[in-house]
Amino acid sequence: MELFKNISVRRKLRRLIMLISGLSLVLACSAFVVYELISFRTNLTREMVSLANIIGANSTAPLEFNDAEAGNETLKGLEAEPKIVKAVIYSRENQIFSSYIRANNPDNQIPPSAPPEGNFFQKGFLNLVQPIYLDKRKLGHLYIQADLHEMTARIWKYGAILISVLLLSILAAFLMSSRLEKWVSQPILNLAETVDRVSLTKNYSLRAQKDSDDEIGFLVERFNDMLNQIEEKNIALQNANDELEARVEERTIEFKQAKEEAQKSNYAKSEFLANMSHELRTPMNSILGFSQLLQMDIKNPLKDYQQENLSSISSAGNHLLELINEVLDLSRIESGNMVLLIEPVDLMVIIDNVISITQPMAFKNKISINNQVTSENRIFIEADTLRFKQVVLNLVSNAIKYNKHNGSVVISYEKIENGQLRLGVRDSGSGIPNEKMENIFKPFDRLGLEGGAIEGTGIGLTISKKLIEMMKGTIGFSSTLGEGSFFYVDIPLSNYQYPPVPIENTSISIKSNQNKNKTILYIDDNSTNLILVKRFLGNYSNIEFSSALNAFEGIEIAKSQIPDLILMDIHMPDMDGLTAFSKLKSIEETKNIPIIALTADAMDKNIKIALDMGFNDYITKPINLNDFLASINKIIT
Ligand code: ADP
Repeated sequence: MELFKNISVRRKLRRLIMLISGLSLVLACSAFVVYELISFRTNLTREMVSLANIIGANSTAPLEFNDAEAGNETLKGLEAEPKIVKAVIYSRENQIFSSYIRANNPDNQIPPSAPPEGNFFQKGFLNLVQPIYLDKRKLGHLYIQADLHEMTARIWKYGAILISVLLLSILAAFLMSSRLEKWVSQPILNLAETVDRVSLTKNYSLRAQKDSDDEIGFLVERFNDMLNQIEEKNIALQNANDELEARVEERTIEFKQAKEEAQKSNYAKSEFLANMSHELRTPMNSILGFSQLLQMDIKNPLKDYQQENLSSISSAGNHLLELINEVLDLSRIESGNMVLLIEPVDLMVIIDNVISITQPMAFKNKISINNQVTSENRIFIEADTLRFKQVVLNLVSNAIKYNKHNGSVVISYEKIENGQLRLGVRDSGSGIPNEKMENIFKPFDRLGLEGGAIEGTGIGLTISKKLIEMMKGTIGFSSTLGEGSFFYVDIPLSNYQYPPVPIENTSISIKSNQNKNKTILYIDDNSTNLILVKRFLGNYSNIEFSSALNAFEGIEIAKSQIPDLILMDIHMPDMDGLTAFSKLKSIEETKNIPIIALTADAMDKNIKIALDMGFNDYITKPINLNDFLASINKIIT
């Protein structure tokens, strides 16, 4: 089918029409010619046979009477028949009796004896041999040769007519095909164009035009059906997509709302805890502050039993305060509100600080503290100073608390793999029973020591574990019953190189360091707090103390007195401490006065806000006298 390869439908169709019409014409003409040929031969044979019969009948007398001349005369009569080119009468002995050869016949050869009876065509001639009978007696044979040139001429004529008709019909077919092809191929071309457009534009709403009810019409119909199905599926898919998108959007909104609600309730919880902590800390401040005041009253010393009672109040108060702080810490960690500031921290400073805090307790329990973190080998770790100190403080105070009399605590360190440092606290206490070990980091589980003589909340280690994990470290322990325990913290080492700033001496006293009088203004809406701080500072004769019960009054006093230091409460009803701070910083006379925040709000984020604003320090209530005095000294020296 090379003929139809790589050409358009139109041309294929045209070629097909021409081929079919040509072929059918050739076939028809050929059939006609063959028929003509056969019928010509048959007719000729029949004609020759009847002629031979007549000649045969006329030849009986010459043969009977052996009159060759008469035989020749009889054959001469064949001159009237132009087809006959030769005729021979053979005698009974099969000898040439008489013969006839048409004039101008170049072939004058005659067979010497009669060929076999019958007729046969040979080289453009019909040869006929018939016996000659007289009363059933065979007298001889008649041989006639007829010329077939008439037939050949007729065939050539037919051939010429055939070719002319063929050419004419091909021309007619060509002319017709260009009209016909439009009729046949146009619908196919229309369909092809629609297919092309659909494929290019991906627009499945297009349809092919149906012009007829034939196979092409059927094809168009099926193609349109197919497009219908695709379109329907597309619409269904689009709908499903839209539905899905809408559902996702709906869920996202729901999720956002839920998240916002969770955030709100989380925020409300933190706020509640912060407020509760603030509300609890304020009266605690009074309880602990006045207890300290009474204990430290040099002018009116207390009797021993009063001191004892007071220390019970202080101890219970401190315990309560510790509990409040720890519950608050735990809730902050769990609600994700605990923000840590990871920075290089001098391990020695932390340990020294922890030891200075725990030393009195160790001394009281006759416990020796062996600190191997010395100043010769300063080590920096990546941690949050305040929170790391809290963890170490918890471990060291536990090592002291759960130790035996005259026991020991060893604080050691070693560098371990993965760039970490292991800080260890070993005690010589009673150890932890194996079966209780798994509960040690569970909140409020004191491993059976609840209600015992040793004070504790049971959440120190829970918080420590969470804090250390937030600092990308781990906490662990090993313990042998009767021998003691070893608690350790693995924390990332820092590559910080510079020597750290030396730790402040927290036991500085204003009285001994100051020669000239200093003025301190304290602004707080709580009169008990004012009295408490006034009494604290009253011990120092070189301090002139003034106070204000609200920020407005405080700003006025600050403008007129220009104190050396302002102590500012943060939560005040009319104007809060942060606003008052900004106001003071905007007034020319007061803008250089250092300001310390003195508040019960111990929320990390609020401390950060205040310090970022420029507060010189942030002291939380209940006030630790030593820290308080150290801070004042640092600022106004
Ligand atoms: P707290 O000491 O306030 O009870 P912790 O969370 O710090 O809470 O400790 C939980 C419990 O683990 C303690 O109550 C105590 O039973 C046990 N524990 C902690 N440290 C030690 C230690 N060094 N030796 C023995 N027991 C300890």
